[in-house]
Amino acid sequence: MTNTTIFQKIIQGEIPCEKLYEDKLCIAFNDISAQAPIHYLVIPKKPIPSLRDCTEIDKNLLGHLILVGQKIAEDKKLSNWRTVINTGAESGQTVFHLHIHFLSGRAMLWPPG
Ligand code: 5GP
Repeated sequence: MTNTTIFQKIIQGEIPCEKLYEDKLCIAFNDISAQAPIHYLVIPKKPIPSLRDCTEIDKNLLGHLILVGQKIAEDKKLSNWRTVINTGAESGQTVFHLHIHFLSGRAMLWPPG
């Protein structure tokens, strides 16, 4: 997998985004096609294609991504949200750079479609 996904271009500043947070490990921004009133993504700067490609070495990074998403939710005063990681095309993954969806602001159905 190359580093030329749309998210890699966002990380490199080649494509604009509505940025919510950034540090040396990750960046968070609003989803361009929001599926809920609040829908943002937290992505690592490390070009990991999907959760399937994570290893023990990524353990702290994965925890960091989730906690960054939680902090943004707290800043937005959210008390309910859904966290989603699509892994593989059949699961709905369309961008092959690991990302965590955070969705909120409406009632969610279960099971998801
Ligand atoms: P996936 O389907 O891979 O789990 O999620 C990819 C997400 O990235 C989708 O929700 C899609 O709307 C979002 N997305 C795709 N291209 C862009 C873009 O250029 N900018 C932003 N902000 N989000 C994007």
